[in-house]
Amino acid sequence: MNWLDSHCHINDEAFKDDLNDVLDRMALNDVSKAMIISNSFEEYERALNIKHPKISFKHSLGIYPGDVNEIDEDKFNQFSKLYEDNKCIAIGEIGLDYYWNKDNKDKQKEIFERQLELSIKLNKPVIIHSRDAIQDTYDLMKKYRTKAVMHCYSDSAEMAKEFVKLGYYISLSGTLTWKNAKEPLRVIREIPLDKLLIETDCPYLTPSPNRGKRNEPSYVVYTGKKICEELHIDEESFKIQLNKNYDELFGL
Ligand SMILES: [Zn+2]
Repeated sequence: MNWLDSHCHINDEAFKDDLNDVLDRMALNDVSKAMIISNSFEEYERALNIKHPKISFKHSLGIYPGDVNEIDEDKFNQFSKLYEDNKCIAIGEIGLDYYWNKDNKDKQKEIFERQLELSIKLNKPVIIHSRDAIQDTYDLMKKYRTKAVMHCYSDSAEMAKEFVKLGYYISLSGTLTWKNAKEPLRVIREIPLDKLLIETDCPYLTPSPNRGKRNEPSYVVYTGKKICEELHIDEESFKIQLNKNYDELFGL
């Protein structure tokens, strides 16, 4: 069975010079499924052009919380029109980020809520970004019940369980391989395997032993293997479960 990367940005500038090598390394490491995240029309356009004979790419588009100040009605409508596109199978990453922006919480919540409403209307899952905003995120995700994954989850294991109770998936990144990682390792023990996903969020958050370098989808294997080691489960059955979760979440 293959590995997968449930959240990557290989449509980022960081990959413009050697994307084909990056894709070949994915194939070589059996990473044969990936969700490419776009937060602008340019990124979406680039993402749709990424192809490799041995890899299945899927696409998600969303208004990033850090960008909401630039969103007027026109722009919002352009995004929502594209959400109806068959190639756009998820809406994200969307959510709340109070780490980078504390002064526009109302606008962030408004754009987030409107996208959650669209996800319900269009019956498409959402990919959630939440930073320093977990309680507000939780409250809105409780209000708008949809299909969702908490991407790059970095809050407490207790809170992770609350999201799981609402039926949501929790996706862990390479940070759980880092030396000082404690809470992510509690998270993987506390939540059921059928609600767990893994991702790179590349080009950021590079797992050990490559920390410090640019991240890429083939490195998701380090994160996957670390989880197997910690939970004493065999890789093959873990990969089977991951694929089931991914397909279920994204309706594949
Ligand atoms: Zn991301």
